Amino acid sequence: MDDREAQTTRKSYTYKLKPAPEQARQLEEVLWRCRTLYNTALEQRITAYRRCGVTLTCYQQQAELPDLKAAFPEYGDIHSQVLQDVLARLDRAYQAFFRRLKVGQTPGFPRYQGRHRYHSFTYKQYGNGARLDNGFLVLSKIGRVAVRWSRPLEGTPKTVTISKEADGWYAILSCAEVPARPLPPTGRETGIDVGLKVFLITADGLAVENPRHHRKAEKKLAKANKRASRRKKGSKRRGKAVHCLGRAHQKVKRQRADFHHKTALMLLRQYDTIYLEDVRVANMIRNRHLAKSISDAGWAAFRTILEAKAACAGRRVVVVPPAYTSQDCSGCGARIPKSLSVRAHVCTSCGLVLDRDENAARNIQWAGQALRGVVA
Ligand SMILES: [Zn+2]
Repeated sequence: MDDREAQTTRKSYTYKLKPAPEQARQLEEVLWRCRTLYNTALEQRITAYRRCGVTLTCYQQQAELPDLKAAFPEYGDIHSQVLQDVLARLDRAYQAFFRRLKVGQTPGFPRYQGRHRYHSFTYKQYGNGARLDNGFLVLSKIGRVAVRWSRPLEGTPKTVTISKEADGWYAILSCAEVPARPLPPTGRETGIDVGLKVFLITADGLAVENPRHHRKAEKKLAKANKRASRRKKGSKRRGKAVHCLGRAHQKVKRQRADFHHKTALMLLRQYDTIYLEDVRVANMIRNRHLAKSISDAGWAAFRTILEAKAACAGRRVVVVPPAYTSQDCSGCGARIPKSLSVRAHVCTSCGLVLDRDENAARNIQWAGQALRGVVA
């Protein structure tokens, strides 16, 4: 008998919307106004800082929303919580910028959002401006929008985000109290590390290859990109090419997410606890290497999926602070310095010979187990 507690998690559910033409136009309008507000608020912050050396807070900017609505009545048609969320997003962008600055990185300053960069708005409190009713999504001032229920919704909806993708509109419902479905315990643990040649490798030598279709889809993407940039701005042909590019982007994004989901599930079925390194910090210690930083970008997305799935499956993901995981010998602990081009770990002290990433994955496991006080 396993100890199945009545555990719940948070989970997001995405559904395609089927708005009527007039509704689609209204959604487009809301998105446009949100983006304008974002850019205006960003400008306001920059100006306030330049002129008076003060940093406006999210709260100060939100307090001005009633004045904005009075001056620009078109904003009166947008739910106030949606507008508040726009300002909160800007604030998060600022905070992320300063956080990265603090740890010695060189982040880009929060930037103005173009038409193709800003594609969603959020009702931050379910039931306040957005709610479900009889299979429809009811949005304030827009009305009842039809939803394609591709999978059952579970838990209690907390926020509703409306997102515009290359092939139409989507609703993302973030739910709390989603019942967890614990997997049966296996009694096994492992460390995982990002591979340079493979997507990841576990401490027991299981390598997950980078999927091949990425390469193919990325080539197609590059082609679509080139075609779009060659065509004359504002022309019909360019509009078509840009649309194609959007679809190609979406395809790559979906394939990647699908691969991440499958890989996460495969690992969670086999291991009760998975240890991994905080690569954002590791990046600063490690040699900077282009291929590596590219794979790290995908790694962050994978980690998010792995952690969410683990919470749902009653598994544990432990993030370990990086410390010479690729340099130290997982057998005896001797430090064997090596550059990124050296693929094998060869210990001069105990004679251990191992793939360098597998050696790192083992070190990550030992470090994580020490952190938790577990004896392997
Ligand atoms: Zn050794």
